[in-house]
Amino acid sequence: MSTPNSRRAATLKQLADEQFDLVIIGGGITGTGIARDAVARGLKVACIEKDDFASGTSSKSTKLIHGGLRYLEQGEIKLVFESVNERKRLMRVARHLVRPLPFLVTNYQGDRRWLVTLDAGLWLYEALCFFEAYKLHKTYGPQKTLELEPGLRKEGLNGGILYYDCSTDDARLTLENALDAQLQGAAVANHLRARSLLKDGTDRVIGISVIDSETNSAFDIRGKVIVNATGPWCDEVRAMMKQPPMLKPTKGVHIVVDDTKLPIRHAMMMASPKDKRAVFAIPFGLGRSVVGTTDTFFDGSPDKVEPTSDDVQYLLDTANSYFPDAKLVVDDVISTWSGLRPLLAPADASESASHVSREHTITENPGFITIAGGKLTTYRHMAAEVVEHALKQLGTHAKSNTVDRPLPGAVGLTESDDALNALAAKLAGTGVPEKRAQYFAQTYGARSSLVVGTPESATSLDTELPYVMSQVDLAVDEEFARSLDDVMSRRLPFILRSRDQGLGVAEKIARHLAKRLEWAPARISSEIANYRDMVDASRRYRK
Ligand code: FAD
Repeated sequence: MSTPNSRRAATLKQLADEQFDLVIIGGGITGTGIARDAVARGLKVACIEKDDFASGTSSKSTKLIHGGLRYLEQGEIKLVFESVNERKRLMRVARHLVRPLPFLVTNYQGDRRWLVTLDAGLWLYEALCFFEAYKLHKTYGPQKTLELEPGLRKEGLNGGILYYDCSTDDARLTLENALDAQLQGAAVANHLRARSLLKDGTDRVIGISVIDSETNSAFDIRGKVIVNATGPWCDEVRAMMKQPPMLKPTKGVHIVVDDTKLPIRHAMMMASPKDKRAVFAIPFGLGRSVVGTTDTFFDGSPDKVEPTSDDVQYLLDTANSYFPDAKLVVDDVISTWSGLRPLLAPADASESASHVSREHTITENPGFITIAGGKLTTYRHMAAEVVEHALKQLGTHAKSNTVDRPLPGAVGLTESDDALNALAAKLAGTGVPEKRAQYFAQTYGARSSLVVGTPESATSLDTELPYVMSQVDLAVDEEFARSLDDVMSRRLPFILRSRDQGLGVAEKIARHLAKRLEWAPARISSEIANYRDMVDASRRYRK
């Protein structure tokens, strides 16, 4: 009988024994998106990730699939055009994970932009997606704006504009790309780090040397084209090629609070009272609201990105300036997450962090391609572009299918809300509590049947959150989870949403995992200690 361990061993053997057309380093949204696109075009594909899928930037974003209204203001029309159209496509192929979210942007006396300017900007925003937004925007006076968001500061309010973008679960979007790549025949593995590149006598890259972090053993993976899709780590892999750095990353921090403390109904675009930068307050579901993000240049190690007390205070001050009754203080912060934007170094070194372009770039040498920059929203398009470059190097061509092929959880869903609601109702009809049924539908979509109908599906893991033990089983059996952190930070993100960030249930889950993953007792302790370190890092601002 196959087990998670025997399946991983088989994948590692395949990676060591076979030669691949494409070997992708990096299992964020970019790398897994490339793997999925390439395997569907008939290439033999390997994709490896040093930690867990989406453990880098791809679980640390604001989780918006959006055009980015502020990029319009910065004149990045091409980026916005691409983004709003990708939003439309992702709503079709990942409907359970990419869901419409209403945004309210307010105007107060003394604001830099007038309502009419915002209104004109939104017409352009909607024109760029050929007026196929979920709903077209509407402008409201102060009274109606306050009816929409009763907690808003009243003084000086001129009105607001309601428009639609989308929210997502970035880590799960990445995971579903990895799953679909595997489903179509790609060899996909996490906890496998590329440590050097292999070259032939002509200096052409012919593969990579990797370390399995579970066993500390090394082996080689041979490939005709190697893709560096390592986001903020991109320059480390370029250094293996003796190529110069190309990134100037910026750090972004988010804070999570109880939604009774910040009871918002819309995603709010706010201007920081400190520097007028745009900051969002977003309903996060399951009783939580999020405020983010900061945007500051970062030159430390991408492996150690933590919030400072200044970061957290900046976000609290911004939220309090729009929602004065919230009176948010540091003690209200349940959790934080911090990530690095893998942005391209600007030609003008004096450019501010918020003004550095979010565009991507692809560079290539024979056998080696680097993709850097870009957005979560545009990953599908970026991936298709990288595969075009790889196909050219391989001397072949085939058409991408990712515009139409649904991700595994979206099979059978339609663009409207109806199918998702019907799925939640069907799950509730089988006895799954309503809140959990809706959460399952929006998390697993068509794969929801995999987490219901067992005794573990009724084993609740948190008094507030709908998480159950059958999700832990699925994470290990079918979703590549190999560690306690993989489970508690990304598959069921206790670290972001649970009031104690999951510390109280960590041992119970670790013991459950130990049986499935055949861990020795010492491993249980080290997994718990490692998860505690992750939680501590997210709380470091408190010191
Ligand atoms: P990553 O997700 O970082 O993936 C790179 C992976 O490579 C990592 O998992 C890493 O572990 C792995 N790796 C590194 N070195 C090696 C090695 N030697 N061997 C094997 N693996 C290796 N975009 C949006 O569209 N919407 C948003 O709302 C949004 N908000 C954002 C907010 C913040 C604060 C940040 C930081 C970014 C935001 N973005 C947003 C941008 C978006 O998140 C990123 O563009 C995207 O996630 C980058 O994905 P990636 O795969 O390129 O990088």
